[in-house]
Formats: sequence, structure tokens, C-alpha cells
Amino acid sequence: MIIWGSTSKESTVDSTTFFCPNCRDEVDCDQIRVSRYFTLYFIPLFPVATLGEYVRCDECSGEFDTKVLKLTKRHIDAMTKPWKCGECGNSNDASQKRCVNCRCFREDDPADDSIFEE
Ligand SMILES: [Zn+2]
Ligand SMILES: [Zn+2]
Repeated sequence: MIIWGSTSKESTVDSTTFFCPNCRDEVDCDQIRVSRYFTLYFIPLFPVATLGEYVRCDECSGEFDTKVLKLTKRHIDAMTKPWKCGECGNSNDASQKRCVNCRCFREDDPADDSIFEE
């Protein structure tokens, strides 16, 4: 009786550096690819599909979308630091898309950046 099946395996595609949103620093990271492997007698033989890729920080072991590789300190800061309203000068939390004081929209919304478009 032949026992075959499939399993998922991770492999390191690339080792690079990125600005980790967690460490708030330029650190080493691995780009990991998760692939589905065909197995025979529980031994992975060859990849049959790529399930996805992610980035793992060497410092904090945080796992991030590969888009994070394109982010710079400026992007991370824009997404995590309070922003100042251009209309009334109110300081707003990074999670707020609109000024909590005058309700006007954030002008330099980092989520509008083209790097987030697929
Ligand atoms: Zn990190
Ligand atoms: Zn305002």
C-alpha cells in the first residue's frame, strides 16, 4: 500500500533587512515561503502549490506581510505615530482617519499610499 498525501513546508527565500514595525528599527529578517508539498510515505517530495509568503523578523520573531519590505521608517511612523490635523492643529491617534476635533480627513493618510495597492 502506497501512502501519499500533502503537507505544508516553509522555506527561506531570502534574508534581508527591513524596518520592523515592532522593533522600530532596521533589523535582519527572513522572507519565508510556505508551500504545499506532495508527500510519499510522509516524506515531502516536491512543492505542488505556493500558499503564501511572509516576512519574519530575526529580532522579535514578528511575522509580517511581505508588503512590509517596501515600508520605510517614514511609513511606519505615519501609521503608528499621532498625526497633527492641518486644519485645527489637533493631535490625533494614528488609528483615526479623521480629526477627532474638527472631523476633517487626514491629508497624508499612509493607507492611501500606492504601495498598499495590489
Ligand atoms: Zn522585529
Ligand atoms: Zn482638526
